[in-house]
Amino acid sequence: MKEYLKIDCGVFAAANLRGQPVFPLLYWGLRAQNHRGHQSHGFVTFDGKFYSYKSLDLVPRIKTRATHEWLKRLPGSIGIANVRYTTSGKTDEKALMKGTQPVIAKKNGRKIAISFNGNVVNTLQLKREIQKEFPRFEYECDADLISHKLLVENLKTGSLTEAVKRCMKEIDGAFSVAGITQKGEFFAFKDPYGIRPLCAGKDQKTKILAFSSETVGFDINALKFQFEIEPGELVKVTKRSLEREKLVNMGKKAFCAFEFAYFARPDSKLGKKYVYEIREQFGRNLAEENPEIVQDADLIISIPETGDDSALGVHEATGLKWERASRRHRYVTERAFILLSKERQSTIDKKINFIASKIRGKRVIITEDSIVRGDTTKVVVEKLRKMGAKKVHLFVTFPRIIGPCFYGINMATYGELIGANYDEEEIAKIIGADSVNYQSLKGFIKATGYHRNELCLGCLTRKYPTPMAQRIADEMWKRFQEGEKETGRLYEIPELLENAAIK
Ligand code: SF4
Repeated sequence: MKEYLKIDCGVFAAANLRGQPVFPLLYWGLRAQNHRGHQSHGFVTFDGKFYSYKSLDLVPRIKTRATHEWLKRLPGSIGIANVRYTTSGKTDEKALMKGTQPVIAKKNGRKIAISFNGNVVNTLQLKREIQKEFPRFEYECDADLISHKLLVENLKTGSLTEAVKRCMKEIDGAFSVAGITQKGEFFAFKDPYGIRPLCAGKDQKTKILAFSSETVGFDINALKFQFEIEPGELVKVTKRSLEREKLVNMGKKAFCAFEFAYFARPDSKLGKKYVYEIREQFGRNLAEENPEIVQDADLIISIPETGDDSALGVHEATGLKWERASRRHRYVTERAFILLSKERQSTIDKKINFIASKIRGKRVIITEDSIVRGDTTKVVVEKLRKMGAKKVHLFVTFPRIIGPCFYGINMATYGELIGANYDEEEIAKIIGADSVNYQSLKGFIKATGYHRNELCLGCLTRKYPTPMAQRIADEMWKRFQEGEKETGRLYEIPELLENAAIK
């Protein structure tokens, strides 16, 4: 089986309607969202022609004297940009470079450039359709699939709106996309369930319109948030404004619940609230749901940084002493969760440090955003024990993960998920903690400010919003229970894809 790169990313895109260079906005929009992908970054700008720059690693620092060079390399008043991490497949430099975004699809003088966040499920089916028009078409990442599908439909129908509508109807998966056509049409759209974030912002005075995965992309550029793009909605940038059109209506949303606990920056807004406030409430909920654990603790600490705000919430709700006894090394930037398994342990060791004198002899509660495989949490618990913690209780803000994700988060099989295989008590034993306490699903949903039917809870409930993902999940679960050994990303096995294909 060929392993394709699967991704979750950060998107930023902007147009300066006064014709000023857009690159500085793209640059800062990406810098603000580097937490969404550290393995590569890229920019495409447009001034009647496309200009592209892509590279590996974090978005670089640009020295003032080099700004001129960058503006020369990426001219134009419209642009799209992307940061990305791979969630499977090869991670050598060549493979990573091939999957870097934005991508540009070309045929018969038509071109479409896109920056995308999400994951396509019905890859095989789409590839075959695209190959009818592009017989030698192969792809390195899902952005290739989406850009070519858009181009194929655009060539057939002659209409961008119609092409986007067909993508929305025929692609199973999560896709939040910003793009530019060779005519200079600048647009953004979301899949019919709105699984990944993408919002619109602007500055009336400077005539700048922008799209960003998270609102922090607007804040850093002094732009004003306008609206979260609706599921199934296409937004086009006209000479003066943003034109919205709902193309597909599934009657429900399915925004990724994991964004609240793990992905989004605390100073981003999701819905009406800052992520910080939501995480703080997660902590209050955990305290209220587990009074006997709070009674059995001397202090609360956190696994930085996604656990910090919930630790504050526990402290606020109970008065339990909150110690900032865990610290991140500021310049170790890898997120442990998105590293390969063999790298994970040593990186946790390198990036988090504890203040031993605050922990020695104490009964400690530590807040964690989630437990996926359990290996990173285990290392943290071991560290606390070595420092002389008398007890270690875990408070986990994201409820127990019992299913894989098909929409861009790196958890692809049942076997790898500790929560799909063991209950709380067993997990506590495996990671060496005195107890593991997950936030209730009800409390979690309430804290987000969303309704249950507005969220994707697939990995928590095994009920997925898109039909093909559901069929594959059910088949994978059946095979897993029958003891079939999972090898890598089961849902990319052609036979599974064939059986579950959209009919
Ligand atoms: S399955 Fe889980 S991680 Fe994946 S999109 Fe849904 S809520 Fe998010």
